[in-house]
Amino acid sequence: MGAGPSGFYAADGLLRGSSVSGPTLHIDIIDRLPTPFGLVRAGVAPDHQGTKAIVRQFEKLLAQPNVRFRGNLEIGRDKTWDEIIAAYDATIVATGMVLDRKLGVPGEELPHVWGSWRFVAWLNGHPDFRTGPDLGVVKRVAVIGNGNVALDVARLLAKSADEMAKSDIVPEAGAAIAAAPIEAIDIIGRRGPEHASFTNNELAEMGRLSRAVALVDAKALEATAPADDPTPERLRKTKNLDTLRAFAGNTAGAKPIALRFLFHTTPAEIRQGEYDLVVTCIGYGGTELPKGEGVFAVGWARRGPSGTIPTNRADSHAVAQQVLAWLKDRVPRDGVDPLPPGIDAAGWQRIDKAEIAAGAAEGRPRIKLTDWASLLKVAGG
Ligand SMILES: Cc1cc2nc3c(=O)[nH]c(=O)nc-3n(C[C@H](O)[C@H](O)[C@H](O)COP(=O)(O)OP(=O)(O)OC[C@H]3O[C@@H](n4cnc5c(N)ncnc54)[C@H](O)[C@@H]3O)c2cc1C
Repeated sequence: MGAGPSGFYAADGLLRGSSVSGPTLHIDIIDRLPTPFGLVRAGVAPDHQGTKAIVRQFEKLLAQPNVRFRGNLEIGRDKTWDEIIAAYDATIVATGMVLDRKLGVPGEELPHVWGSWRFVAWLNGHPDFRTGPDLGVVKRVAVIGNGNVALDVARLLAKSADEMAKSDIVPEAGAAIAAAPIEAIDIIGRRGPEHASFTNNELAEMGRLSRAVALVDAKALEATAPADDPTPERLRKTKNLDTLRAFAGNTAGAKPIALRFLFHTTPAEIRQGEYDLVVTCIGYGGTELPKGEGVFAVGWARRGPSGTIPTNRADSHAVAQQVLAWLKDRVPRDGVDPLPPGIDAAGWQRIDKAEIAAGAAEGRPRIKLTDWASLLKVAGG
């Protein structure tokens, strides 16, 4: 259940591990959306097409004869967990975790405060999030959080239309950002730069934006990477501090947008007027998931909202081994096909083809269909 990276990697692990003798495995990969790939499509930033290229590996799985995709089938809406669990020999819960976490401060409910998921899902064309913030009035932006999602949000707001030309950002979102009168973007972290969880490539990219100058107060950078961190973490943090020191040498006013990193700053209250847009990038929560015999969880649904796409591979492969061990001692269920009719891989490929064709006309990788009616219509042929 769930056609994001962890679901696909679980299917991959099952197929790799089941090549030994035994009954043929049949895998249904089910998602509530008409489109597969979870956060690769709806979360990963639209200007990072290299990261999104992972879907080519997932497409190969969809082409396997014993793997089926079923979109537009939501657990909770179309089926209950109990029905799914009863219908299959094993169920893998791969439904992710994307409810925006709350800061828990007064003012958080003001209309100019956006959770990062709602914001990113909008510009990535998720059909449940078709309205974005009113950017026509936005001069000052606060991005709260010190992880890569905060960098994504700040970068996407800072980039020029030219820099976004080869992206698959939803055209309306791209046009709204390009026209916004943004002058300042503050990236706000409650701890010091030595604790930020930015990866260095993403941080360094903030120094190469055409219309924004990255700025940081040199005084905030007296820290060093914590000595008790494991080596790769210490290296990452040391590199980040070097990158930030370079930003400290930049000149405010050198480019139209000031992109400031503010450390040791904890928002106590959000007021009207201080910022025109506040985007909180402080992680995600989820809903209660089923447990029981023959039920396994992978990815963000299992581990919580941390880890990149590759993290899910090892995790899902390990769980796939447990699933295979569970299946080994079972008499396979037979009888009726448990999968109700709906959007299959061919339906998704019709959406894919239509989006790529629309994009080609404008030199973009794709232009997404963003409303349920169009997605269902195109998928249905
Ligand atoms: C904004 C953002 C940017 C990111 N950028 C990067 C990046 O650049 N590089 C990187 O490596 N990682 C990135 N990540 C992390 C990466 O996206 C995750 O590690 C990965 O997507 C988690 O995979 P998953 O399969 O567990 O969950 P998801 O990708 O969330 O997939 C879950 C799937 O389950 C479906 N689903 C949910 N509920 C139901 C239901 N009730 N019934 C049926 N289906 C359901 C959803 O529609 C979805 O397709 C980013 C994450 C976010 C939030």
